[in-house]
Amino acid sequence: MKIAVIAVQGAFREHIAALKSLGVEAYEAKWARDLEGADGVIIPGGESTAIGKLMREYDMLEPVRALARAGKPIYGTCAGMIVLAKRIEGEDTVHLGLMDVTVRRNSFGRQRESFEAEIDIPAIGAPPFPAVFIRAPHIVSVGEGVEVLATYEDRIVAVRQGNLLATSFHPELTDDYRLHQYFLNMAQAPVAH
Ligand code: GLN
Repeated sequence: MKIAVIAVQGAFREHIAALKSLGVEAYEAKWARDLEGADGVIIPGGESTAIGKLMREYDMLEPVRALARAGKPIYGTCAGMIVLAKRIEGEDTVHLGLMDVTVRRNSFGRQRESFEAEIDIPAIGAPPFPAVFIRAPHIVSVGEGVEVLATYEDRIVAVRQGNLLATSFHPELTDDYRLHQYFLNMAQAPVAH
């Protein structure tokens, strides 16, 4: 199994390290052709406007959409979640526009630009997950078919829609790789959406 990590901007190296430590082949996808034959895609945290713009310029949006249509799992963390969303509050430009959610950027306030919180994610079981939030977005509304996997202070911070997964926080910045494992399990048993 080969997982492409979008490597145009942001924290892609940490995702590659996480996947490799789980024994999976993971590589940097910098160009559209790098997406050919991928069994799954991760869109990292960083700056969603930059990631979206570069993916558009490098013609990477449509190949990722095609992989999603083929049932391959796609996981967006933080900025990656914004890139996946169908709606971004206050903005007209959407990027991949795949996931039926509305996201609000930088939604935890200035005083809390970056923090760690233990959150319950029943889909991966106990113990609580050490979630690292950095200028994080949250999900303000979800469409039908979107499963809420976790909330933090009444805000939705982790969701799944068929083969699409998104979290407001950065699991690649901890050494708890249960969400990466959850994503890999989606790759082994793809679900249509
Ligand atoms: N604030 C960033 C954005 O809106 C996301 C931050 C992150 O990925 N850590 O794109």
